[in-house]
Amino acid sequence: MNSPLWSNVVSELTPYVPGEQPKGEGLIKLNTNENPYGPSPKVISAIAAVLNDSLRLYPDPTALQLRETIANYYRLIPEQVFVGNGSDEVLAFVFQGLLAHGKPIIFPDISYSFYPVYCQLYGIEYQTIALDDALRIQAEDYISPLLPKIGGIIFPNPNAPTSRLLPLDEIEKIVAAHPAIVVVIDEAYIDFGGETAIPLIARYPNVLITQSLSKSRALAGLRVGLALGHPALIEALVRIKDSFNSYPLDRLALAGAKAAFEDHDYFSSICARIIEARSALTEALQQRGFEVLPSGANFLFVQHPQNAGLTLYQGLRAHHVIVRHFNKPRISEYLRITVGTPAENSALLAALDLLLTA
Ligand SMILES: *Cc1c(COP(=O)(O)O)cnc(C)c1O
Repeated sequence: MNSPLWSNVVSELTPYVPGEQPKGEGLIKLNTNENPYGPSPKVISAIAAVLNDSLRLYPDPTALQLRETIANYYRLIPEQVFVGNGSDEVLAFVFQGLLAHGKPIIFPDISYSFYPVYCQLYGIEYQTIALDDALRIQAEDYISPLLPKIGGIIFPNPNAPTSRLLPLDEIEKIVAAHPAIVVVIDEAYIDFGGETAIPLIARYPNVLITQSLSKSRALAGLRVGLALGHPALIEALVRIKDSFNSYPLDRLALAGAKAAFEDHDYFSSICARIIEARSALTEALQQRGFEVLPSGANFLFVQHPQNAGLTLYQGLRAHHVIVRHFNKPRISEYLRITVGTPAENSALLAALDLLLTA
């Protein structure tokens, strides 16, 4: 459908397609990298404690208490912290406020599929840089003298959907080579064993790090994301926010997110369980002939030499296990599988045992 009532930009858009959120019961959902465990019980109590008449009042537009809590947690100051309605919203502000300079921006050819959508929404040109044959980011490709004049750089670390982690010294090379543009590290999955780039903030005013409470803190339903960087970068995001929606985080989200950062023990225990389940699942898939990319995330990116990606995706679906398949160049033989609970992972393996042909 297309309507003459639409603006030009809407007619041209190709929106992002989120992973399926099935209505039916009894499905094993390993398709959107949600946490298989619930949030900290302290998060639930903190939200319950603000479920009262205070909801008649607007929330704090500056989210100061939450920003102070996050700043303490990472040994930053609140002026280095921005929070928004999921890191997708934070990223939208980053594209509009820090990456749009009338020059192309660059990101990997295989990466978070929201990036080209933001480019289209905000009229930002982009060029993609091919991952190497092992689907790794090569830092040299991002500092090459052959690059055109660029307006900014963004990539996830670990990368999605490949799950591969780029070491911090490689990231630093990219950030250091581009003092005049913003380099954004999307750390949606960094808590699953990766090394965060936050220490670079003290030395590089051009690095911005985004994180999400949706994966490692089990709060995809609350919609909270953050950006960390030099106060001048954070100020740009605040200016966009205050020109769009002064209150992106409601009272429940502010209370729940603060409690999530205050319960470090719960957070580290669920991350440790997922990391342990990730190694067990990696080994079990390798025993069944899968090639599994080394993962620094809460998902695996796998392919099987004798079984097509799409066939396995459809077969698993018929056995009530949902994973993600991308019908895209270079990765159409792969499946992206979220690491679930040990029981969910066993159900996945049992379904694969019925499907795999040697
Ligand atoms: C999940 C994800 C996000 C978005 O997270 P939300 O906070 O839920 O909006 C951003 N970047 C990448 C790479 C992701 O996988």
